[in-house]
Amino acid sequence: MTRKIDIFDTTLRDGEQSPGASMNTEEKLVIAREMLRLNVDVIEAGFPISSPGDFESVRKISELVGYDAVVCALTRAIEKDIVVAADALQFAKRPRIHTGIGVSESHMRDKLRLTPDQTVERAVEAVTCAKKYVDDVQFYAEDAGRSDYAFLARIIQAVVDAGATVVNIPDTTGYSLPEEFGRRIKHLVDNVNGIEGVTIAVHCHNDLGMATALAMAGVANGARQIECTINGLGERAGNTAMEEVVMAIKMHEAELDAHTDINTREFVKASRLVSSITGMNVQANKAIVGANAFAHSSGIHQDGVLKKRDTYEIIDPADVGAGASQIVLTARSGHAALKHRLEELGYEFEPEKLDELYEAFLNLADKKKEVYDEDLESLVNERDREADALYTLEGVQISCGFPLTPTATLTVRNPEGQSITVCDWGTGPVDAVYKAVNQVIGTENDLMEYSVQSVTRGIDALGEVTVRVKAASGEIYTGRGADGDIIVSSTKAYLNALNRLISDRR
Ligand SMILES: [Zn+2]
Repeated sequence: MTRKIDIFDTTLRDGEQSPGASMNTEEKLVIAREMLRLNVDVIEAGFPISSPGDFESVRKISELVGYDAVVCALTRAIEKDIVVAADALQFAKRPRIHTGIGVSESHMRDKLRLTPDQTVERAVEAVTCAKKYVDDVQFYAEDAGRSDYAFLARIIQAVVDAGATVVNIPDTTGYSLPEEFGRRIKHLVDNVNGIEGVTIAVHCHNDLGMATALAMAGVANGARQIECTINGLGERAGNTAMEEVVMAIKMHEAELDAHTDINTREFVKASRLVSSITGMNVQANKAIVGANAFAHSSGIHQDGVLKKRDTYEIIDPADVGAGASQIVLTARSGHAALKHRLEELGYEFEPEKLDELYEAFLNLADKKKEVYDEDLESLVNERDREADALYTLEGVQISCGFPLTPTATLTVRNPEGQSITVCDWGTGPVDAVYKAVNQVIGTENDLMEYSVQSVTRGIDALGEVTVRVKAASGEIYTGRGADGDIIVSSTKAYLNALNRLISDRR
């Protein structure tokens, strides 16, 4: 049997730190359920001291997960952080506190203003403190990728002696080269007493496009836990993508002496789910889960694959859950069929909410005939967005064409329950309707990005619009909207982003 590599998912913590990717507790629970279906070993559920929302998410996810995975909460090496994290984890069956401190010269000197001795002392205090609340304590050596080898070994030795069960060696800035990063891990394996009794973890960033390569170098040199996210979501250029490292290990089990317990057939679904919830689209040429990951367009390649798949394809698309969308439901499908399919997709609803969804589903099925999984996900997300909206769309009408002036008439219900109707014009229909929205909401913002994607194939497909809006404060908000009519989706997406902006400000 090869070494078991633990998969530590941080989509809900590091992933959420991508600009504009913030999620509410409900959305995090949906992703946590998907993590259980993927069979991850550890879910990093949040950073409890950072906000009441994060605290609540860690608590709710702890209840949801039970014994099925370790639930981890992040802290700084500060007692108050640790106490709050322990409190958030109180219902977790397998709780882990993830505490740590910067260990590179620049982190110690410029950020923490601590000497190396003081840094070691703080690290040991943090681990000792966390040990009072939970047995399973993971220590992170922030910016380890740029730290001094001897100092890194010294601080890791100190926290191992203090009882850390996992030591996480992050390349926080994505600076390292794979071979060098591997040597760094090997140096710890060779120089820290008792390291064989703890798990070495790697947490890598993609600033040079090497997050996956770095994690693999870690595994080849003794790491037994990889921290990663779905779609490689994360700070700046993102983290190691789970689907990439897991498939790389699967392709090379024997030479790496490694395997994971991940259910890889969930990858495409997980990717779509995370993208749809966070509004972060996946590029078509993304490894494993991109729309083109298994598309062969050159004649020579097509010929080869038709003769024998593995001439140009190393992965069977079915192994990662890729392939043609399945028609699941039609207007003749009953309430029970919808409930069943939604459950298979990971959604559970109260009967009342399910009735509402059934109505919306029938509406869609009437227009669209064949309803795919992607349509259902889009429908559910749309209902969620509407449920906590401050401003909701009541109607929109556009006239446009050549040589007309695009004009929009818009009716929006405000938080006080009044319907407001305005009209405006612009260079195109979207411009016209967004100007009308601005008349109603009147909050200063900058539209940074606008994109439309069809949810499935076919000319009757739902169009999903993603917008990114920058508030006067500099904060970025993502909005999404889906409808058969892209002007309606565009309006919903813009309202969704502004609703988030306004509720944040409140
Ligand atoms: Zn990170």
